[in-house]
Amino acid sequence: MNILFATSEATPFCKTGGLGDVCGALPRELAKLGHRVTVFLPAFRQARQAGIPIEPTGVYVEAPIGQKHVRGHLLHSRLPNSDVEVFLVDQDHYYDRPHLYREEGEDYRDNCERFTFYCRAVLEAIAKLALPVDAVHCHDWTAGLMPAYIKTLYSAHKPWRGLVSLLTIHNLAYQGNFWHWDMALTGLDWKYFNWRQMEFYGNLSFLKTGIVFADALTTVSPTYAREILSAPLGAGMEGALQHRQADLHGIINGVDYQEWSPASDRFLGDHRYDRQNYAEGKAACKRRLQQRLHLPQRPDTPLLAAVGRLADQKGYDLIVRVMRHWAERVDAQWVVLGTGEPKYHEALSSLAGEFPDRVAVRLEFSEELSHLIEAAADVFLMPSQYEPCGLNQLYSLRYGTVPVVRATGGLVDTVVNATEATLANGTATGFSFDDYTSLALAEALDRAVRAYHHQAVWSQLIETGMRQDWSWGHSAEQYVRLYERTIRRGPVEVQA
Ligand code: ADP
Repeated sequence: MNILFATSEATPFCKTGGLGDVCGALPRELAKLGHRVTVFLPAFRQARQAGIPIEPTGVYVEAPIGQKHVRGHLLHSRLPNSDVEVFLVDQDHYYDRPHLYREEGEDYRDNCERFTFYCRAVLEAIAKLALPVDAVHCHDWTAGLMPAYIKTLYSAHKPWRGLVSLLTIHNLAYQGNFWHWDMALTGLDWKYFNWRQMEFYGNLSFLKTGIVFADALTTVSPTYAREILSAPLGAGMEGALQHRQADLHGIINGVDYQEWSPASDRFLGDHRYDRQNYAEGKAACKRRLQQRLHLPQRPDTPLLAAVGRLADQKGYDLIVRVMRHWAERVDAQWVVLGTGEPKYHEALSSLAGEFPDRVAVRLEFSEELSHLIEAAADVFLMPSQYEPCGLNQLYSLRYGTVPVVRATGGLVDTVVNATEATLANGTATGFSFDDYTSLALAEALDRAVRAYHHQAVWSQLIETGMRQDWSWGHSAEQYVRLYERTIRRGPVEVQA
């Protein structure tokens, strides 16, 4: 099959979160299964400066955006170590910016225009490049208009006639909602601006448009696929999703073990390790991290870590509260790497200033440090309010770092809570808790730290975690089956 991936992130070109990891890895897995995947990205400054060879093609695409005609140039590259072709839509005015979507806590004001152009440019590129495409796989709101274009403006003409589209929702909270007059930018008929199709509480919604017009929908774990059918995790889209329930599938994300294995990790230098020698390997990485972050070199003090976007979703309010309480009383070290909401930057920096022997915080995006932390930490924290899939807990399992997670979304599907029963039957891999409260997080952490001081239990948890296989193979096969079914069935009629 020929699959077109429409995504705004793909490692190693550009990434702000899990979307980038998935769209960097899944196309390669699909290619291994014999399919041809072509990835289309906006030519963000971050992508162009990623150090990967990118060539101009001399092929231009044009699209009407409101009253304007906008032109873009297609650049060509490949996902490293693969044959997967990547085209980047180059339009400096839209994409040559310091960040992808927002700066200093504010979305770029012309995001609607930027991603309307992206959606149209990708569709135009299919014709310009004479690209064989059997299905268009759209990711998140930034590609949300494409299924609507395919079913409306482009439906009567070759090469788009009869094309099917799929939409993967990586995080339902990011919806791409814009004021209604932006509808004029899209060139789509106002008749689609109604509550059953593109309108979402008076706004134009890219994500809702995708949910309504795509021929199949997926999200990134079976539990999240169920959770989003009702409030609050449906984030207002639960009605639209219930309507499409028969076409909504939960496929868990995999891990790119080429990137994320302690045995081959390029960021670990001499301290690489595997299941046979993890004790020495992790101890060495812990020393290195403590030294690097100016924490006291204490091998037997549990090191608790969190890496990620500093957003409400990730439970940083709970982390900050428990950290403050523990930093005064409990022999544990805390490491946080992340960027995001200014309120968390402030709270975490002030804790690091107050407790320099117990708390180290790095407010930056660092691929290298995120790998070192996965290897060095004893416990990895993910007390998320909601978590579509979550990747860090999967990385943690492979690195022998025990996850402490809230029982939501993909965290339910991937971490087995340590209880008497799961320890006895050898399935326990971490600790989970239900209530979204700092008390529940503190209790789970307390269980984890007690287990840490109980060597037999701790090594059992680490070794069971390291044995887990969350590689992409199985999930990629599920995507293939879904592509096949969707193509066989053909375009689904949209309810007016
Ligand atoms: P989400 O997509 O919701 O942000 P995931 O757990 O699915 O969460 O994926 C997050 C990815 O982004 C992981 O690969 C994580 O290591 C990475 N990441 C997030 N913040 C940072 C950071 N500050 N530095 C390095 N990597 C980060």
